[in-house]
Amino acid sequence: MKKNLAIVLDIGGTNIRLALVSSERGILHKLKEPTTNEPLKTIHRMLEVASEIHTNELAGIGIAVAGIVDRQSGVIVKSPNLLSLNGVNLVSEISQNFNLPVLIDNDANAATYGEKTCGAGMKYENFVMLTLGTGIGGGVVINNDLLPIAAEIGHMTIITNGNKCSCGNTGCLEAHASARAIVDYAITRLKSGLESLLATLYNGNYFKITAQDIYRIALEGDSLARDALREAGKSLGIGIANVVNIFNPQAIILTGGLIGSWNIYVDSAIKEASRRSLPELFTKTTIIPSLLGDDAGIIGAANLVFRRFSQQN
Ligand SMILES: [Zn+2]
Repeated sequence: MKKNLAIVLDIGGTNIRLALVSSERGILHKLKEPTTNEPLKTIHRMLEVASEIHTNELAGIGIAVAGIVDRQSGVIVKSPNLLSLNGVNLVSEISQNFNLPVLIDNDANAATYGEKTCGAGMKYENFVMLTLGTGIGGGVVINNDLLPIAAEIGHMTIITNGNKCSCGNTGCLEAHASARAIVDYAITRLKSGLESLLATLYNGNYFKITAQDIYRIALEGDSLARDALREAGKSLGIGIANVVNIFNPQAIILTGGLIGSWNIYVDSAIKEASRRSLPELFTKTTIIPSLLGDDAGIIGAANLVFRRFSQQN
């Protein structure tokens, strides 16, 4: 019998989500809880809800997690925003409690597979996806399949002696082009006394400023806000140029909160990438937004489950 349902656990630094996904009808149910400093407790509580699902249509459980994972063993090797999960074998923990097969992958890889199977990547044999949020993640599809590699594109070094990154290195793409980098850029300049409408937000409490605020103020013509997005966009463009030169992809798919500021941030990135990549390769690469947005990781993890487990048992 073909098994058409999957349970997905999407574990991020901000939220933990649980979803029931059908291979034909997409996401059927979703639960969301904020990530605390005890994510394992939250995970077990959410999975208790899932254990109420009594059906022989369940193919398995897919876990998408922010960080470096060992797909074979099921161990979360390193998750900078979920420190208490480092070294935990979530696959064996969960498969002990459920009589179901379990797989794990990095969240950006799962999202890339989601876009490949149901989203903006469907028509491309070769593409690279970049997730642009607080951090930057990546995934690579070659010959219609997700490469089982780390694809930590956010941690490629783009500048010598650059900003400090969450990984411990300096000058990473993520440290110069993420939402966090945009906010840090603006705060540093506000503190140095540069004038900006941003200084009027939150009664001058700069640490509450978000990348969305910066985009909104940039649209009003504020030069500090525009510079913050343009500078981050240029750094993203360096990263994109490297990706184009290495993978020669048909498309680069961009996703995450930052693509809301496409007309400043991404446009600067495209301009910079066109200057820096090999023109013969760049002209063959389309840069487009994702279709599935936030749900890409859930759909991708479910489709990984269907691919690996649905014909078994
Ligand atoms: Zn880094």
